[in-house]
Amino acid sequence: MKKHNFYAGPSILSQYTIKNTADAILDFAGTGLSLMEVSHRGKEFVAVCDEARNLVKELLDVPATHDVIFLGGGASMQFCMIPYNLLKKKASYLDTGTWASKAIKEAKFFGEVEVVASSKEKNYTFIPKNYTVSGDSDYFHITTNNTIYGTQIHRIPQVDVPLVADMSSDIFSRPVDVSKYDAIYAGAQKNLAPSGVTIVIVRKDALNKAGRPIPTMLNYMTHVEKESMFNTPPVVPIFAALQTLKWYKDNGGIAAMQKKNEEKAAVLYDEIDRNRLFKGTAEPEDRSLMNVCFVMNDEYKELEPEFATFAAAAGMIGIKGHRSVGGFRASIYNAMPLDSVKALVQAMQDFENV
Ligand SMILES: *Cc1c(COP(=O)(O)O)cnc(C)c1O
Repeated sequence: MKKHNFYAGPSILSQYTIKNTADAILDFAGTGLSLMEVSHRGKEFVAVCDEARNLVKELLDVPATHDVIFLGGGASMQFCMIPYNLLKKKASYLDTGTWASKAIKEAKFFGEVEVVASSKEKNYTFIPKNYTVSGDSDYFHITTNNTIYGTQIHRIPQVDVPLVADMSSDIFSRPVDVSKYDAIYAGAQKNLAPSGVTIVIVRKDALNKAGRPIPTMLNYMTHVEKESMFNTPPVVPIFAALQTLKWYKDNGGIAAMQKKNEEKAAVLYDEIDRNRLFKGTAEPEDRSLMNVCFVMNDEYKELEPEFATFAAAAGMIGIKGHRSVGGFRASIYNAMPLDSVKALVQAMQDFENV
């Protein structure tokens, strides 16, 4: 039976990415060696890294003021690297979920943190609006997509200070005006590659200004200057990332991804709104196009385990909601085909009619 992969992360990758990476693990670029056993400084892998960097720049229209680096440590490492490098005195944060609050916790090690708004008291089911960001903040940190709660910032805030964004779960899902950001970061395992590499886009002018000594490995400038080769980068995840980036380009680029994502999300949210058994958990205007969170209506609540079993029998993998929300979460990242979303919708309808 066909499996439909709705895992939140690590999550679905294109077959193009998986196949080419598997091939390179057996024989990389005609070297007769595995991708896992070649020098990261060999010309074949340096070419992979260069091409991946250039494709990120091309697909996201990264201006010349910014650079792209590939780091280890996951998005969670960025929670401290961002303030280490960019927070001089004070930074502002928007608290939209578990990841945002973890970022806030780390920033407090480095200076004053202004939490401009939080949706915590409503279990992060909406994106706060109508807040003010202090003009003397070094940056304003947002989490553009809240993977656990299924909310997404659809209108990027207009503020007078540079933005910094955790885009781990929606990078490459829609175009972005990189010029507004001092930094963008994303762990690869939601929309790009296997876990192990984190993409960071930084504005070079913003670096070396925090006025504190920064250990070499945690200093963005180190990795900018050494083009992500200061130490051994995550070779296999970077190779896989390049395959996904090529696949994005071959499939019409990021605007085309956005169109596909809007279509997929509409199909699923329409069914959630129509089906008498289910309801969405996020405020409709803030619903994520990447992570669709839903529960069973109160009068059908006790059917949740039964639907979980029913859906699993129909090939739906990974739709259990995060423990802090409960219910269900279908992650429908770029690589998720519309047909799989339709298969889930069909399972929801079949369950309604049993
Ligand atoms: C998954 C995720 C993280 C954590 O990523 P790691 O690579 O595991 O550190 C952080 N932020 C967001 C928005 C995420 O979705």
